[in-house]
Amino acid sequence: MNFYEPTSNDKIKCLLCGHYCNINEGQVGLCKVNKNVGDKIECLVYGYPNAINIDPIEKKPLYHFLPQTKTFSIGTVGCNFHCSFCQNWQLSQTDKINKKQYYSPQNIVDLALHYKCESISYTYNEPTIFFPYIKDIANLAHHNGLKNIMVTNGFESSEVRTSMVGLIDALNVDLKSFDEKYYKKNLGGKLDVILDNLKFFVKKGIHTEITTLIVPTQNDSEKELEEIASFIANELGSDIVWHISAFHPDYKEMDLPRTSIEILKKAREIGYRAGLKNIYLGNVGGLL
Ligand code: SF4
Repeated sequence: MNFYEPTSNDKIKCLLCGHYCNINEGQVGLCKVNKNVGDKIECLVYGYPNAINIDPIEKKPLYHFLPQTKTFSIGTVGCNFHCSFCQNWQLSQTDKINKKQYYSPQNIVDLALHYKCESISYTYNEPTIFFPYIKDIANLAHHNGLKNIMVTNGFESSEVRTSMVGLIDALNVDLKSFDEKYYKKNLGGKLDVILDNLKFFVKKGIHTEITTLIVPTQNDSEKELEEIASFIANELGSDIVWHISAFHPDYKEMDLPRTSIEILKKAREIGYRAGLKNIYLGNVGGLL
């Protein structure tokens, strides 16, 4: 399927994420990498990953899916969110595509096989915005015995989430807050869409782990952590893995302190109290 539809004479609606940008001819959407080129939306980063690495799967983080294997990781530029604490902002908040080398879907799969990876991860920036590229790689990956992983903010359109079923095997989804206004104003997404997508992914049997980056003063109140933990336990299941991750000053948030180990431990306690069984603390190097 094509992830766009014409809406008026020169406008085309992008169907890749929950923003559903209605884009004028010659213009790009919010993510800066999907463009109305006249008769269609072109995904400008198709074939042009800006980052390629071989990572341990635990780095995604995924702890309960193919443990101790290598995952071939790619990311492009652009994002549909604008989080001020982004830890990958050099990729996510630029539109400078590295066009030095074109990587066809077959090239990506061949490289993953060559480096003996068991999966391909679409990660670093928001993969939803380059889903047309993912879809082509992921189909080939499955034919070659490789699994597919997306590390995402969970703001997929309903069209993309439906296409993910049977194609994407595992997810790590950020649940960054439980405050609708904060999501809208500070991050640029809609909480209800993300919660609904999470329920959908779990119901469809996609292995789903969740990450919450705890940013001091922004999402570290007990109330909010309780809401997040209760949602995961009650709506998704007590076996769902929750990664609680520490913030370090980055991008526009250089004046905030690092997340303390006390807050991380408190969040873990809250998670256990809510009934969650699998909780891991992340980015704790130097804090313990
Ligand atoms: S991927 Fe999302 S943000 Fe980008 S153009 Fe499409 S709808 Fe807009």
